[in-house]
Amino acid sequence: MVVLHLQSVNGLFQSTKEGPLLAQRRSARARRCLCLQTQAPPSRTQVPLVFKFQISFLFGGAGGSYSYSALKRLDQVWSTICSAQTVVEEPKKNFTLNRPFYNHRPVKLIEVVKNRFTSLGGVMFEGCSVSGVSIYEDAAVLQLNEEKILSSRLIIDAMGNFSPIVKQIRSGRKPDGVCVVVGSCARGFTNNSTSDVIYSSSLARKVGSSEAQLFWEAFPAGSGPTDRTTYMFTYLAPQPQSPKIEELLEEYWKLMPEYQEVSLDDLEIQRVLYGIFLHIVTGKFPLPAAFNRVLQFGDASGIQSPVSFGGFGSLTRHLNRLSNGIYEAMSDNLLDSYNLSLLNPYMPNLSSSWLFQRAMSAKKESNVPPDFINELLYTNFQSMQRLGDPVLRPFLQDVVQFGPLAKTLGLVMLTKPQIIPSIFKQVGIPVLLDWSGHFSMLGYYTFLSTFADPVVRSFLSTLPTQAKYEWKRRLEAWKYGAGLDYKS
Ligand SMILES: Cc1cc2nc3c(=O)[nH]c(=O)nc-3n(C[C@H](O)[C@H](O)[C@H](O)COP(=O)(O)OP(=O)(O)OC[C@H]3O[C@@H](n4cnc5c(N)ncnc54)[C@H](O)[C@@H]3O)c2cc1C
Repeated sequence: MVVLHLQSVNGLFQSTKEGPLLAQRRSARARRCLCLQTQAPPSRTQVPLVFKFQISFLFGGAGGSYSYSALKRLDQVWSTICSAQTVVEEPKKNFTLNRPFYNHRPVKLIEVVKNRFTSLGGVMFEGCSVSGVSIYEDAAVLQLNEEKILSSRLIIDAMGNFSPIVKQIRSGRKPDGVCVVVGSCARGFTNNSTSDVIYSSSLARKVGSSEAQLFWEAFPAGSGPTDRTTYMFTYLAPQPQSPKIEELLEEYWKLMPEYQEVSLDDLEIQRVLYGIFLHIVTGKFPLPAAFNRVLQFGDASGIQSPVSFGGFGSLTRHLNRLSNGIYEAMSDNLLDSYNLSLLNPYMPNLSSSWLFQRAMSAKKESNVPPDFINELLYTNFQSMQRLGDPVLRPFLQDVVQFGPLAKTLGLVMLTKPQIIPSIFKQVGIPVLLDWSGHFSMLGYYTFLSTFADPVVRSFLSTLPTQAKYEWKRRLEAWKYGAGLDYKS
């Protein structure tokens, strides 16, 4: 038996006074607990293996959080990450867990999904928080609050970026990189017809006691004709002196009016948003299943690109692949960690995106000119634009492919060779060597998906169940790992 033990509530939330709205949001936050399939209580023939872990605060993804106290709590988590040692911790004996501060905004989408799920016989437990997971030979058991338990054949861990199960799997390892995002949705933008996917106008600057290169994103919001969402984000290697989220938000209020050519006095703020996105390079990526009967999904699996915070987009891109694969694993009873790991296989296109994050993180010690990051971005985008839509579009939609990437790098080297020494200084030789490995694998996966896939596919139906399942997952890994799932 494997026990993943989650105890809810620590002092942080208890000491906070909540208004009714906050309390309502809190209960909404705690309600994501889906039971895929229940069965008789598990046998008692368990192997006593106990894993426990500690986490003090979690928060949700889409839409982020927007209360000041939640921001302070997230800043606390961020400071802990920044000051943590890189030493890998032993799995802890106990852990505590606070439920995330999470705002469900896409109400309509959730409603449609919920109705479909329940119409197919699914059962939803709203207001339930998972406090522990026990894994037996023939079942996995979820412990819910109020002493309730739920037994199932497979648990899908969709507890986001700060999933306590993931934290346990990664043994509390400090992330290699983080994208911090702050922003708001506000009413009153008279000029609201264009979008920026990534925009940068300033040099790397001091925020708090560290350097940060600030990037922007802006787009019209669906809630009204003059409503606009604007984000400011930065890539950081977590260090004790890294800027706090609150400091970044202060910077945002100063710089956003200049960026959007508006005055804050003319805007009615609808929501303030912020989040941190962790990226761990060491180890496999996305995260392979570490336990039988537990599969990570969405942000918890690390399937999102380290460059963008478009985790929802990548979650939907993999939805079809994953739902088919999970269906087959369930049907053929292939629920051990080996077979589940085939559903979260190594994807070289994701791993090679790490270089871009590194290149866009401002570092004082790298000794590159202060306009290096803007220059690099400009040169890259200019090259991609010259190479046309087949190169530019997938990249803008977070899909890295071998051909477009090789062409872009080639053109950058030809048109701006003088930038290459600064790239070496900025990212460092070890990262470049590691990246070269992923880039080669990207080429190899592209080759396999293009030429080996049709051959394998022709004899797939003749294979026995286990081999067929493995080969299907391999074909998907080649295709998705090479970004060939992209459709323009
Ligand atoms: C400010 C901001 C802007 C973003 N913009 C975009 C964008 O433009 N495009 C895009 O594609 N993505 C965007 N994202 C990212 C996107 O929101 C996430 O990638 C996506 O929400 C991930 O979904 P998920 O279900 O994997 O995890 P989450 O949305 O984080 O959901 C995790 C869920 O698990 C629940 N949970 C955690 N612990 C427990 C527990 N113990 N018991 C019960 N439930 C628990 C939480 O309450 C939460 O509901 C943005 C995120 C932020 C913060």
